[in-house]
Amino acid sequence: MKYCVDTKENDNWYIGTEKFNPQAIDKSETVMFQGNGYLGIRAAPEEKSLCEKRDMFVAGTFDAFKDEVTELPNLPDILNIRVKINQQLFSLSAGTIQNYQKYLNLKDGELIRKFDWLIADQKISFKFSRFISMSDKHLFVSKVEIISKQNDVNVQIVSGIDGQVSNSGTQHLVEGDKRLFDDKIMQFKEQTQQSGIKFIFNVEHKSYIDEVLLNNKSNIKMNRRQIFDNYDVDLMKNQKFTFVKYANVYTSIDGDTEEDDISDVSIQDMKKNCLFNYAELLNKSIRAWNTEIWQRSLVEIKADDNKPQVAVNFARYQLAANTPPDSRMNIGSKGLTGEGYKGHTFWDTEIFMMPYFIFTMPEVARNLLRYRYLGLDGARKKAKSNGYQGAQFLWESAWPTDGEMTPPWGSVDIVTGKPMKVLSGFLEQHVTSDVVIAVMEYLYATEDKKFAEEMGYEIILDAAKFWNSRLEWNDEQKYFEIKNVIGPDEYKEHVNNNAFTNFTAYWCIQKAISIVGLLKNSEPEIYDELNYKLNLDDIYQDWLAKVDLIYLPKANDNNVIPEDDTYLQKPVIAVDKYQSTGGHAKIFKDYDLKEVDKLQVTKQADVLLLIYLFEDMFNKKIEKANWDYYEPKTTHDSSLSLATHAILASDLHLEKIAYKYFERACEVDLGTHLGKVTQGLHMGATGGIWNMVVEGFGGLRVLDSKLRIEPNLPKSWNSLQYQINWHNSLVRVLIDKNKLKISVMGEGIKFINHDKIYQVQANSKLELPISDEVTVEKENDNN
Ligand code: BGC
Ligand code: BGC
Repeated sequence: MKYCVDTKENDNWYIGTEKFNPQAIDKSETVMFQGNGYLGIRAAPEEKSLCEKRDMFVAGTFDAFKDEVTELPNLPDILNIRVKINQQLFSLSAGTIQNYQKYLNLKDGELIRKFDWLIADQKISFKFSRFISMSDKHLFVSKVEIISKQNDVNVQIVSGIDGQVSNSGTQHLVEGDKRLFDDKIMQFKEQTQQSGIKFIFNVEHKSYIDEVLLNNKSNIKMNRRQIFDNYDVDLMKNQKFTFVKYANVYTSIDGDTEEDDISDVSIQDMKKNCLFNYAELLNKSIRAWNTEIWQRSLVEIKADDNKPQVAVNFARYQLAANTPPDSRMNIGSKGLTGEGYKGHTFWDTEIFMMPYFIFTMPEVARNLLRYRYLGLDGARKKAKSNGYQGAQFLWESAWPTDGEMTPPWGSVDIVTGKPMKVLSGFLEQHVTSDVVIAVMEYLYATEDKKFAEEMGYEIILDAAKFWNSRLEWNDEQKYFEIKNVIGPDEYKEHVNNNAFTNFTAYWCIQKAISIVGLLKNSEPEIYDELNYKLNLDDIYQDWLAKVDLIYLPKANDNNVIPEDDTYLQKPVIAVDKYQSTGGHAKIFKDYDLKEVDKLQVTKQADVLLLIYLFEDMFNKKIEKANWDYYEPKTTHDSSLSLATHAILASDLHLEKIAYKYFERACEVDLGTHLGKVTQGLHMGATGGIWNMVVEGFGGLRVLDSKLRIEPNLPKSWNSLQYQINWHNSLVRVLIDKNKLKISVMGEGIKFINHDKIYQVQANSKLELPISDEVTVEKENDNN
C-alpha cells in the first residue's frame, strides 16, 4: 500500500509527513482535514502559502449565487496567524526549513506542524498545534510556540478573522458588523446573500512567555471584511513564546439558540472557554472522541503491516469529522473537506456510509434517515413536477425543501467543446430505492419500531408509490418496464431496464406490500393514519396487480445479467488502460460521453453492486459469472466502485484480487495520486473502507432481515476484531486463522454461518472453527 502520508509502525493513529513539499500542500490539507460535523477546516497552514486551498465550512449553511444551485459558502478564515521575526515575514518558502513535521493524530483530532526556520543568522523553532472541539461544536483552538535558538529576537504577530475569501471566486457573504468586546474579543458578523443565514465569528488571543501570561493590550486593525489584532514581543534566546487563538462560530440556523441571542451566547461561550488553557480544552475534546466514537466503533486488525488499521482509523475519523450533529442535515459526498459537489448529499450516504453508522452508532444512522424523512415533501414535489406520484428523492440534495440540486451543466465535451448537460438530476432515479435500502437495513439491525412508525414506513410506502407510477406496460413483452434512466453506471444515459433500477424498484414495491399487510393486521391505527396521508387502499391493489409483472433483467445463457436492454450488444474495448483508483475518468481523453455510451464500458459497480446488496436473490454461479464479465469492463471512475469490488471478490474467495481492490480502495484518498484533491475527500469511499473490513473480510451481512457472519480473513492478517450493535445487544466478533468467536453483551442473538443458524445466549460467547470447505476454495484461487 502506498500512502501520500507517512505512517508509524508503532502508532495506528499517526498520519504525517516529514518532507515539506509545497506541491503537495493541498493533498495534505485534504487528508489531514479537521472537523466535528458542524464545523470543518482544511489543514491549510496558518500563514498564507502558495498552492494552499484554505476552506472552512459549517454544515447546512447553503446559499445560492444567482441562478446557480446552492452550495456551502467558504467562510472567513479564522486560522490565519502571520508571524514576523525581526521584521522578516515568516514563510516556508523563505530561508531554510529543517526538521519539518506535519501530522494529524487521528485519535485526538489534533494537527501539529513543527520545524526549525533558518533565516539570516536566526534559528527559530516553530510548533503549531490546533483542534476543532468534539465536545463543543462551535470551538476551534490553535496555538503557536516559538523559540529563538540563537539570539534574542523581536516577534510580531497579526491574527484575526479574514473575510476576504470566496468559493473559487464566488462571493456568498455580505459583510456585517465588526467590533471588539471587553477590549479583547474580536467579533465579525456576516450573512449569506440569498438564504439570509447569519454568521458570528469571535476570536480571542492569549500569549505567554515561558508559560507566564502576558498582559498585552489589543491593537486592532480593521479592513474591508477583515479584523486583526497585532502583537509585538521581545523574546530572549531560548525563551518560549506561546500564542493561543480561541475562535468560535455560530449561525442563525444552529437550532439550539434563538437568532437574536446568538451574539450574546457566542461571547459568553468565548469567555467561558478562555478560562481554560489549550491542553484542558483539548482534553475535553479527546474525551468526547473516546466516548462518542472510538469506544463504540471498535475495529482491530492484527497484521505485520499496520497500514490497513491506519486506513480504518482514518475512515472512522473522517466519518465522525464530517457527519452533522443535526438531523436536518446530511453528509456531503465530500463532507466539509472541500468545495467539490458543493456540499451536496448523494446516495453515497445511504449505500456506502450507512452500514458503518447503522452497526456502530444507530442514533446517528437514525438522524441521517430523518433527513430523508424531512425531505419527503421535496421528494413529492420532484415526483409531481416530473408527472409521477409518491416521493422521488433528490439526486443531489442540500436543504431538501430547496428541491433538486444537481447543477444542469457539467464539464466540457472533448469532441464538441461545449459544456455537457448533466442528466443525473432527472434520470438517476435509483436514489429513491437506495433510501429505502438504508431504511430497511436500519430497521433490521435495530428493530426501532418507533422510527418505523413515525418515519420509516412512510418513506418506504411513498417511494413505492413513485416506482409504481414509473412503470410502463410493454404490450409486446407483456411486462412492466422502467425506461429512460441512468443507473449507478453514469456512463450509460437514457437506458431502458437498468438491472439495478428495476430490481430495486421491484423490491421497494414488495416491501411496501408487506408493510401494508403487517400494519393492517397488527397496527390498524397506524395503517389508518398512513392511508389517510398516502391513499394506500387504492395503490395497494395496484401494487399487487403489477409487482409480479415487473421485468427483472434475466441472466443470459452465460449467467450474465444485462446491465440494461442494450449494453450486451455494444462493442467491447480493452478498458485496463483507463482503470483508475477512483475519480480520474481517463477514458474521456479518448472518447466523449456519447461515444462511451456506445461501448461496454462501465463507470462503477452497477450489476455487481446489485448482487452485493441483494446477494440472496442470486446464486453463486451468477455472482461469479457477472464478476468475470463486468469487472474487466469497469473503469472505477467513481471512487465508490473499488470497495464493492473488494467485497465481492472476497465473497467469491478471490483472495488476492480482493486484497488488491482493498488496497486500491484505501488509496482513494490516502494514496499518492493528486487528482482533484482540492475538491475534498471521497466520503463514500471512506465508508467503503469500513465496509470492506467488516462486511467484506469480516463477513457481516444482513440478508433479508437476518444477520450473517461469514468471514474471509486475508492471508496477511493474523486476526480481525470488530464490534457491532444488533437489535438490543452489542456483538463482538473475533476472527483469527482458526476460529470465529462471537461474544454477546445483552440479549441473545441468532446468526447464519454457511447456511446454518447459530444462537448465542444472552451475555455469552460462541466459538466456531473456520470452515475447511472455504479454505479449499481459497487454495483454488489461481489469480
Ligand atoms: C456526477 C453526477 C453529478 C454531477 C453534477 C457528475 O460528475 O457523476 O453524479 O450529479 O457531476 O454534480
Ligand atoms: C458518482 C456517483 C456519486 C457522485 C458523488 C459520481 O462520480 O458516479 O455515484 O454519487 O460521484 O460522490
